[in-house]
Amino acid sequence: AGGAAMTAEAPVLDVRNISKSFGGIKAVDDVSFTVNRGEILGLIGPNGSGKSTLFNCILGQSRPDKGKVEVNGKPVLGMRPCDLSKRLGVARTFQMLQVFPQMTVLDNIILAGQEHSGTMLGRLMGASDAGLTESADRLIAFFRLGHLRDELAGSLSYGQQKLLDAAMAFMAGPQLVLLDEPAGGVNLTMLEHLKDRLSTYNRENGSTFVVIEHNMEFVMSLCTRILVLANGAIIAEGSPEEVRANPIVIEAYLGS
Ligand code: ADP
Ligand code: MG
Repeated sequence: AGGAAMTAEAPVLDVRNISKSFGGIKAVDDVSFTVNRGEILGLIGPNGSGKSTLFNCILGQSRPDKGKVEVNGKPVLGMRPCDLSKRLGVARTFQMLQVFPQMTVLDNIILAGQEHSGTMLGRLMGASDAGLTESADRLIAFFRLGHLRDELAGSLSYGQQKLLDAAMAFMAGPQLVLLDEPAGGVNLTMLEHLKDRLSTYNRENGSTFVVIEHNMEFVMSLCTRILVLANGAIIAEGSPEEVRANPIVIEAYLGS
């Protein structure tokens, strides 16, 4: 199979046989899955089950020992994150906040939009670009951060910073976004807000998400399909209802 005829129908993300060890630890153990356009795929599993490492392998922050990754039918392993973003429209968030506390909300979002153009100095000097400001303001409005636009990011609550952090991933207008624990540590109100914004963005733009998250209510109500990872391997896959009722999942994860 393969060839040009396949490309139009290729899944947005195709992960094949990815493995990654650290010393003696198999952090990711022969993981394969695909994600289709418009899906919101949840990735759950106990702490240390390899979720973040899998993201790192997919997006080039970490080199897998074996396996391959394709975005829209194009191989991506070895591509720099900036090229992934520019050429293939892939963005991510990290488990740890990536906001600059000494910069305003607006400038953080603008900076995220410039991330891949030139040097740090060039980025900072260009931070008044009108087109970028316009895009940033649209995103600020979408995520309902308008009242905080000119505040320093460091003065925001943790939940507001997580929302900002997620918003920053959308500056490049990505078609595929990988979010690593976007709701980690945020309160219930912010959690509902984040869920609403992500599902609205997905619906309005047809973009595709893969979401790592511990909060079951969040995952089960946001995601259309869920993968369960344990000890680096996929142990279950299905709809939220299927996964919730799966005895293997209950034993390995939900019950623990
Ligand atoms: P999760 O995101 O599911 O909590 P991780 O992917 O962070 O899990 O970690 C999976 C396993 O790999 C853990 O045992 C962790 O300690 C190990 N690990 C992750 N990153 C590194 C690293 N850079 N060096 C050594 N071990 C790592
Ligand atoms: Mg993690």
